[in-house]
Amino acid sequence: MTTRSGRHFLQIPGPTNVPDRVLRAIAQPTIDHRGPEFAELALDLLPRLKPVFGTSGPVIVYPSSGTGAWEAALVNTLSPGDRVLAFETGHFATLWHEMAERLGLEVDFVPGDWRRGADPEAVAERLAADTAHSIAAVMVVHNETSTGVTSRVPDIRAAIDEAGHPALLLVDTISSLGSIDYRHEEWGVDVTVSCSQKGLMLPPGLGFNAVSEKALAASAAARLPRSYWDWAPILDANRQGFFPYTPATNLLYGLREALLMLEEEGLPNVFARHARHAAATRAAVNGWGLEVLCADEREYSGSLTAVLLGEEHDADKVRRIILDRFDMSLGTGLGRLAGRVFRIGHLGHFNDLTLAGTLAGVHMGLQLAGVDIDPAGLGAALDLLGSE
Ligand code: PLP
Repeated sequence: MTTRSGRHFLQIPGPTNVPDRVLRAIAQPTIDHRGPEFAELALDLLPRLKPVFGTSGPVIVYPSSGTGAWEAALVNTLSPGDRVLAFETGHFATLWHEMAERLGLEVDFVPGDWRRGADPEAVAERLAADTAHSIAAVMVVHNETSTGVTSRVPDIRAAIDEAGHPALLLVDTISSLGSIDYRHEEWGVDVTVSCSQKGLMLPPGLGFNAVSEKALAASAAARLPRSYWDWAPILDANRQGFFPYTPATNLLYGLREALLMLEEEGLPNVFARHARHAAATRAAVNGWGLEVLCADEREYSGSLTAVLLGEEHDADKVRRIILDRFDMSLGTGLGRLAGRVFRIGHLGHFNDLTLAGTLAGVHMGLQLAGVDIDPAGLGAALDLLGSE
């Protein structure tokens, strides 16, 4: 095995780099999850989560990955045979749609080219045509991690409202929460799905559902089988600062520290930092003469950029060279994008020099892989980072 010095650059779009502060918080002795010290932690932590989601309502925390939180959103609000509307924005939207079908839901899956977000006009059309109101929910992935495209959730909300349709709005914010502006309550979202290992700067292991009053009311009537994911016993136990089963105690210590870090920086500053790093990354990609996968500038992602290579190049070969030579991990192309794109994660615990190092590694790796790039691309990004 090759000996490495210095820190690995983990520039996949999640899991992201965990700050030392958060690692130290996680490294405390595990406590009794039914004792008073744990209740104190949970009662402090649960309210602190709300502003990150932009909600005054409850946020449910699971010891799970994001996929678990997807399932929780569906089984708590829907019944067997319910129709749901979903959009083929990329790999994760496709997986969520497949999960919904496996759970016995009937999915209207609007096809897409994996370069654009969910189309608000298609939402308006589909819902206007559903005069019987048989569509029970609209499922949207806010930030498609496979493509670097951010769907315009407020426009989707407006389309639902214009159609006067009662469908629930379920949104996956797994790679946008704590990185890209998001407002559960203001945007009228009913269930916001998220998890720990991206903008929240934690290791994998926590899943989240932020839920509206309307979602809670729907859960009282929903008939998909649920047990582990059931919101009701969790909300009940949370009132006293407990959980119905063993929570991920040490990750919750880390979560409190990560939330303090976000509070200290201030969410608007966090979002502006991500937007600026995304703009600098696009300056490099365009300057190199390569193509950003996202086809609509209104939908550029603040947390990652997917770079499309010509047919003659294998994006995974570029990634492999960068890993071997510069000890940096970049995101692979997923699903139908395998070999065609690589993804640069610029989210979470991240600053100007982390981005400069990341882009320098990509620049050198592309050259080593024989991709014909204009070397001025890197300078364009540095100019942007170095400007006032
Ligand atoms: N949704 C999106 C947008 C994701 O990026 C991911 C994972 O990267 C998932 C869902 C699945 O989450 P997990 O792998 O934590 O189960």
